[in-house]
Amino acid sequence: MIVMTPQASEQQVEAVRERLARTGVHVVVMPGELTTAIGAIGDPQGVTELGLEGMDGVDRVVPISRPYKLASLELSHSAPTVIDVLGRRVGGGSTFCLIAGPCTVESRDQTIAVAQAVKAGGASMLRGGAFKPRTSPFAFHGLGREALEVLAEARAATGLPIVTEFLDATHADLVREHADVLQIGARNMQNYALLEVAGKLGRPVLLKRGLSASLDELLQAADYVLKGGADVILCERGIRTFETATRFTLDLGAVPWLKLHTHLPVIVDPSHAAGDRRLVEALSKGAAAVGADGLIVEVHEDPTAALCDGAQSLYASDFAAFSRTVLAHAGLEGKQLA
Ligand code: PEP
Ligand code: MN
Repeated sequence: MIVMTPQASEQQVEAVRERLARTGVHVVVMPGELTTAIGAIGDPQGVTELGLEGMDGVDRVVPISRPYKLASLELSHSAPTVIDVLGRRVGGGSTFCLIAGPCTVESRDQTIAVAQAVKAGGASMLRGGAFKPRTSPFAFHGLGREALEVLAEARAATGLPIVTEFLDATHADLVREHADVLQIGARNMQNYALLEVAGKLGRPVLLKRGLSASLDELLQAADYVLKGGADVILCERGIRTFETATRFTLDLGAVPWLKLHTHLPVIVDPSHAAGDRRLVEALSKGAAAVGADGLIVEVHEDPTAALCDGAQSLYASDFAAFSRTVLAHAGLEGKQLA
């Protein structure tokens, strides 16, 4: 919609109408009491690129259609997408998926032990970082290839599909070979070149919301992956706000908002949002209550000795009780363990 200034002349309105018509969009001129508005129906991206704000008599260009396309609920004719990961259904409204495991693969024994504990506690998939994006270049960055091999062994031992972060396009072959779901971390949500590579690897992508990304931006990032052909699971993991008491502010409102606007499954990461294991169960129950399709949660045999994110990791010995509580809440929303 192009809104003209109150002083715009008929010639200026006509010039805008003509310019739009030449691009092939359907143009409707709507004279009002004070100003004239011109509706351009069709190819909105093309219209925003015309730079109409620079034409004489134009006050502003107001986009009416949404900026995301493939992720939009309208595109799927209102049917939610259900993603099948080795038999675990994610999305669709009747299942709840529990992705659990350590922040980082630290050793073979630690990983196998946690994998077995979360499997026994009812987890649907195993998480574990091999390549870690760390705030400091001096922090532990993961065991890389060795960690992927350990995760593959944990999958063989438990049957749990593997979720691991895809940090760098140069790891594409390695990560595709070992992982069932590729996680794009919050810090890379707007790494568009990486999103394009991730979209072409033939694995579902777990896309985390950026630390300061709006939901519109999250869905446009999802479009990059969907355009390549991969499925996307969205993840709310807390955002930066003025509040510093929790590590990030978990935006639970994002979950029902996303359900209104996208067909993609939406899960919640209570661990990175909280930064403190004592808050994780409450946030998880909240996530289930607002309609999340699942959780990704950090669990460690001995969080006090963890190399990364120990303070927010649940004790493996507490996982089964945690899982029962959260699944009871998901059950109230009509969802059963995936
Ligand atoms: C993680 O899952 O360990 C992680 C680094 O998450 P995020 O990208 O959300 O910070
Ligand atoms: Mn972590």
